[in-house]
Amino acid sequence: MSCIFCQIVAGEIPATRVLETASAIVFRDLHPQAPTHLLVIPKIHYDSLGDIPADQVEAVTGALYAAVRQTVESLGIAESGYRTVINTGKWGGQSVSHLHVHILGGRQLGGSMVG
Ligand code: AMP
Repeated sequence: MSCIFCQIVAGEIPATRVLETASAIVFRDLHPQAPTHLLVIPKIHYDSLGDIPADQVEAVTGALYAAVRQTVESLGIAESGYRTVINTGKWGGQSVSHLHVHILGGRQLGGSMVG
């Protein structure tokens, strides 16, 4: 298995997990860009947002964002606010080819979304 996030799902490499649902896991980013920086990933591998079969997009993204909600509520950052980001493809800055949602919080984030 070559995908690093699939290896995390399988427990083959360590990650600091903070939540697990039926279809997703949430763990801390190895190189945090904010005091709270988490990644929400589907247990099933999709290279990116564009690789989810069309008839499953709502179910997969809905499950990921349900996990986001559960996570921010359990960590206590729902009220102060946070940012979710999905980088897609080369120009989107995606470096790991397994669909993931970043959750960034724990500090005032900058107003610009563009790099
Ligand atoms: P992206 O650039 O949107 O593809 O985000 C990939 C993220 O995965 C980066 O923020 C990396 O720091 C993070 N990352 C890469 N490998 C690991 C790992 N083994 N455990 C946790 N986070 C990782």
